[in-house]
Amino acid sequence: MTFINPDIDFIRAIKKDCDSELSTCMQCGSCSAVCDLSPETDPFPRKEMIWASWGLKDKLMGDPDIWLCFQCGDCTATCPRGVKPGDVLSSIRDFMYSHYAQPGIFTKILGNPKYILLVIAFPVIIISAIMLIAGTFQIPEGNVDYSKFFPHAWLNISFMFFVLLITLGVIRGIKKFWSDMKQNKPGKDKKNNLVNCFLIALKDILFHDKFRKCETHYYRYSAHLLVFWGFIMLLVVTFFAILSTIFFDYPLTFWHPIKIIGNLAAIFLFIGCNIMIYKRLNIRSQSLRSTYSDWFFLISFFFLTISGIFVEVARFQNWTLAYHIYFIHLVLVWIVIMYAPYTKFAHFIYRTIAMVYAELTGRYE
Ligand code: SF4
Ligand code: SF4
Repeated sequence: MTFINPDIDFIRAIKKDCDSELSTCMQCGSCSAVCDLSPETDPFPRKEMIWASWGLKDKLMGDPDIWLCFQCGDCTATCPRGVKPGDVLSSIRDFMYSHYAQPGIFTKILGNPKYILLVIAFPVIIISAIMLIAGTFQIPEGNVDYSKFFPHAWLNISFMFFVLLITLGVIRGIKKFWSDMKQNKPGKDKKNNLVNCFLIALKDILFHDKFRKCETHYYRYSAHLLVFWGFIMLLVVTFFAILSTIFFDYPLTFWHPIKIIGNLAAIFLFIGCNIMIYKRLNIRSQSLRSTYSDWFFLISFFFLTISGIFVEVARFQNWTLAYHIYFIHLVLVWIVIMYAPYTKFAHFIYRTIAMVYAELTGRYE
């Protein structure tokens, strides 16, 4: 005999987040039938719908299938009971950030609009404190030179320190997620080893092969691809910029290849974010919800891009407000990068891990 131990708080949280009456799902399976990404064996999202309505939180937390969904909305658009299975999976993913990210209090603060001022104040205080200690917390005279305002050595070391701290928390979360998946969905014997599986998943992610299959909101694939590649290019540029501050001349000239890549990245991000924002504001369809965590992530990225563009223009044009804009940009960098494990940005971590696990366990076969 199997006993079910429902987590009532979990059911309440999911119902509230996605505004869905889980218990009205009649298990017809239309959602799984219409999903182009769902495998033939144990298809999703039908089974997840029953698990969610029964409050089987632990089962869902270790379910890699939650991350094989790209929230295209196809299933939500066709569900005869209006239960929004695509949104339910998205809410479960949001729940997983607080379940795996440490310390979990950050996820709660970042997921609640009433704490937005605290969310902004925290990096403002930390960055101001670092600059005060460095003795540069004032507007420098002469041509704009951001290193006089926040010396490169201080910037590199302090930001790397915090990145290292959050990386340790992320590694802990990944280990727990992996062990939950193994417990929940033990795989059969594999032809592939872990490295091969990682490379297959990586190729899929780089080209968005599976995302491309979604039909109802196809624009999301193109917009996401632009933002994804824009961000990857920015990471590469940041890495070279750090090296340049140590070994070469910095700042780079406008026509330096790294600068050109950085400007291209800004264009990709700008277009991608604008498409996403426009569509989310204008789509009246019931098949794609927009929650606070969606908007927080999207708007932070958008303002990070805009402020980055203004930082560059302000330097070339010697604007008097250049240092103020630069400070705002640093705060936004913090919000996007340091808060990443606690916001929707963490989806890239868990989805990658789940896709590797899916390859390893033959889930796509
Ligand atoms: S979520 Fe909708 S489509 Fe899916 S099984 Fe339930 S009622 Fe059917
Ligand atoms: S939202 Fe799209 S990808 Fe996700 S389960 Fe529904 S149909 Fe499949």
